[in-house]
Amino acid sequence: MSEIPLPPAVAARPRDQRGYPVPAITPWQGDQPRFAATGIARTYICAVERRCSICGLTMAAGPVWRVVAGPEADAIAAGLAGPGAYANAAATAEAPGHRACMLYAAVACPYLAHPTARRGQDAVTPTLAAHRGDRGGGGAVAGFAAYRFRIQQGTVLFRFTEPAELLAHTAGTEQLDRLVAAIAAEPPPPGPGPGYLDDDEAAAERRCTELLSRQDAVT
Ligand SMILES: [Zn+2]
Repeated sequence: MSEIPLPPAVAARPRDQRGYPVPAITPWQGDQPRFAATGIARTYICAVERRCSICGLTMAAGPVWRVVAGPEADAIAAGLAGPGAYANAAATAEAPGHRACMLYAAVACPYLAHPTARRGQDAVTPTLAAHRGDRGGGGAVAGFAAYRFRIQQGTVLFRFTEPAELLAHTAGTEQLDRLVAAIAAEPPPPGPGPGYLDDDEAAAERRCTELLSRQDAVT
């Protein structure tokens, strides 16, 4: 199917009809992943339970990673050069994940975004649509020591602070060697993932409602 090496936790994800792993934050409609769909359930679950947006497994204490576009990569570089410089970074709807999972997202995105171009089929919506590591102007896989989140106008917004690592690229595919090294070096997170982040959207909605009601009880 693909020559891109898969972190074990990503390999365990449900697959779409092409055989590509479907990220934990992608909603499903019946047996079809809806890559372009909006909906906060899965993203909120991952945020509250500190789960990776790609594989759905928990993230240990410490840094979390994202694929960022060029301008944000530049801002992070400035933040790494001087303390506090990144504190005013804009909130984003793009959720964090494991280092290996985000390296995978950076490498896989161009392939997953254009898989049918090579097969001569009709265009389909890109997989990993939220991770535009191959966008023009370069980008990076970036680590942050801390993140916060809140729901605003029906979207889960994240704010990342304390940049910890910046792995810059011109095209996401340049991260392939780092991805291979990360899979070899980084112990896989404990699995399996929870059923409510698999392909049953009703289960995801139920879990989100449960978490939101707990939040109501606290505030
Ligand atoms: Zn992961």
